[in-house]
Amino acid sequence: MTAPPVDPDAVARNAEELRERINRLSGGREVTIVAVTKGFGADAVRAAMDCGFFCIGENYAQELVSKAEQFASLPKPNWHFLGQLQRNKIRSLAPVVEVWQSVDRIALIDAISERAPGAKIFIQANLSDESHKGGAVLSDVPALVDHARNVGLQVQGLMGVGPEGPPEDARGGFRSLVELAEDLGLEQRSIGMSADLEVALQEGSTMVRVGSGLFGARPPR
Ligand SMILES: *Cc1c(COP(=O)(O)O)cnc(C)c1O
Repeated sequence: MTAPPVDPDAVARNAEELRERINRLSGGREVTIVAVTKGFGADAVRAAMDCGFFCIGENYAQELVSKAEQFASLPKPNWHFLGQLQRNKIRSLAPVVEVWQSVDRIALIDAISERAPGAKIFIQANLSDESHKGGAVLSDVPALVDHARNVGLQVQGLMGVGPEGPPEDARGGFRSLVELAEDLGLEQRSIGMSADLEVALQEGSTMVRVGSGLFGARPPR
């Protein structure tokens, strides 16, 4: 399956609208936009960088590594890994990934610290009871943060994916994640995707991860 091309002008229009929506709702807080290019090609990454988005999110190891090969010279994207992480993929990802957002268990923390000492990570919390989305249960998150700090990783914040369904259904989970991040002294809360970023921003998101809202509908995988 080949990725559909993106229209850079459409991406630029979407980017402007997205920035306006975020400014309206962020209450002056600085919010990082991670442009999620999974399902699209390197042209989507270029279009995002042309709009000033250098944090680029991907979900699948192979897809990320092969896209990264097309950005061997500067400026390079800051690749954020967002997908369910398998331990045996960490070795191939380590040379390219800048931020590991989907860390949800001890074995991953240990493997990342071995392959990418001092790396930047987020601990992913499960906010939906849909276990296929990954994430540690909230009550396990503090111990994971402690462990990651002890092995020298830079824990930047917590990440969460809201449940399917109406955006309002995500509010309670987002609120719990933000409270926990504050308790743990973590600056970053990576919550909010195309469909639920308003709710996430109202609840204190500092980082939104936007795919379809920038690039259009993804082809089925
Ligand atoms: C796909 C994905 C996104 C982007 O989703 P959109 O609905 O296209 O904005 C964000 N975060 C994660 C973890 C994802 O898997």
